[in-house]
Amino acid sequence: MEELVKLQRSYFNSNATKPVDFRITQLQKLYDLILLNEDKLGDAIHKDYGKAKFETFLTELYIVYDELKTAISELSDWAQIKPIKTNLLNEPAKSYIIPEPLGVSLVIGPWNYPYQLSLGPVVAAIAAGCTVILKPSELTAHSSGLVAKLINENFDRKYLAAVEGGIPQTTALLEQKFDVIFFTGSVPVGKIVYQAAAKHLTPVILELGGKSPVIVTDDSDLEIAAKRMIWAKFINAGQTCIAPDYVYVHEQVQKEFLDKVAAEIIAADYSIANENFVNIVNERNTSRVSALIDPSKVFVGGQYDIEKRFIEPTVMTGVTWEDKVMQEEIFGPILPILTYDDLDCVIAAIKERPKPLALYLFTKDETIKEKVLSEVSFGGGCVNEALMHISNGDLPFGGVGDSGIGNYHGQAGFKAFSHYKSILDKELVSDPDVKYSPHTEAKLALLKSVVA
Ligand code: NAD
Repeated sequence: MEELVKLQRSYFNSNATKPVDFRITQLQKLYDLILLNEDKLGDAIHKDYGKAKFETFLTELYIVYDELKTAISELSDWAQIKPIKTNLLNEPAKSYIIPEPLGVSLVIGPWNYPYQLSLGPVVAAIAAGCTVILKPSELTAHSSGLVAKLINENFDRKYLAAVEGGIPQTTALLEQKFDVIFFTGSVPVGKIVYQAAAKHLTPVILELGGKSPVIVTDDSDLEIAAKRMIWAKFINAGQTCIAPDYVYVHEQVQKEFLDKVAAEIIAADYSIANENFVNIVNERNTSRVSALIDPSKVFVGGQYDIEKRFIEPTVMTGVTWEDKVMQEEIFGPILPILTYDDLDCVIAAIKERPKPLALYLFTKDETIKEKVLSEVSFGGGCVNEALMHISNGDLPFGGVGDSGIGNYHGQAGFKAFSHYKSILDKELVSDPDVKYSPHTEAKLALLKSVVA
């Protein structure tokens, strides 16, 4: 690890990664590589946890292609030096900001979207002009192995390298000094990464998780709410960082809403026989998630098969914050439903807990919309939709508080891997002598008049 980081640092210091043309060439190369290997990437992820072709394209490759295309077309603009107004005290001078790459970067990926969440940050790092070491997740061995192979066979390791492995390899990497670390994963491991980075004063972007709420008000379009929310919950079998974790539905419309939810699950045919419904990543997680089901509260589903790594889409009703399912991020296909009659109590309950990564509000009421969006802090989210804010590359994506630090996608990703260097570029003509000795009362009065 030490040797690899040294190699990348020396390459970065040669300035080879800085020209915008170089970065665009690398981004295009990555784009072509993914396109050429699309079928292999599809097969690998299917082997890992049964993710089918359509879902792989929609939730993984589409986002990576979109990030690549945006970066390729916008990079010249993002990398431009930005002129800034010069204040009176500093005249005559020019002021400007130079975006510069932070340097040698480390990207640590999770298993749940092994392409999108590993390659997305890599695109941002390349766009910014950094070198990159990618450590994909060991839990999706086929997908991560293929990504590592494609990168290591097609890019020089002094510029872009993939290191496979689990905790020991990641720990060894984290001992090195990086210029920026981009981590996507769980809150406990995020804390380990943050502590390791602190030893070197390395800046971090932490894309973490948590329990993301859905609020369904009594005036919402229940048909649309059920359809969009069920899709968002059960895609990737609920193993999505921004999946709806639990729902607060207004008690007046609970029955009607639940009927629509049940109908929607049947319409989507999420059964063990449906090969489009993905598996849970491993037996350990299947056991963990299925143990959150309280059979006495199951409204739909509830069946599971640990060996086959399958859990039926399950909806639980009559749930309270005391239930086991409300004690941790579910990260699987279980949807607990809570009811409310006072929106202020819902807002208070959310605010008492760690700030969520996402929040989804289904309502037609503009006052409620304004209230929830202004009173509750969360990473990002949707109104009358769920999950899809991640697919608009112009919306910075990230958490807040316990759900993360920093954000990326589009220009936000470029910024995450960049430092904005501020320059005051002074003219060589003689300047007003107000700051120079002798410091007279007249000069002080003049200074005061400038800011008065
Ligand atoms: P994880 O934290 O277990 O693992 C993430 C990465 O950290 C992996 O590459 C793993 O090898 C490494 N790792 C694990 N334990 C480590 C340790 N002790 N020391 C050093 N490195 C270690 O997360 P996961 O299970 O892969 O992903 C699920 C979690 O990630 C969920 O909490 C989910 O919400 C979150 N997540 C967040 C986002 C986001 O964009 N905010 C996206 C996907 C997943």
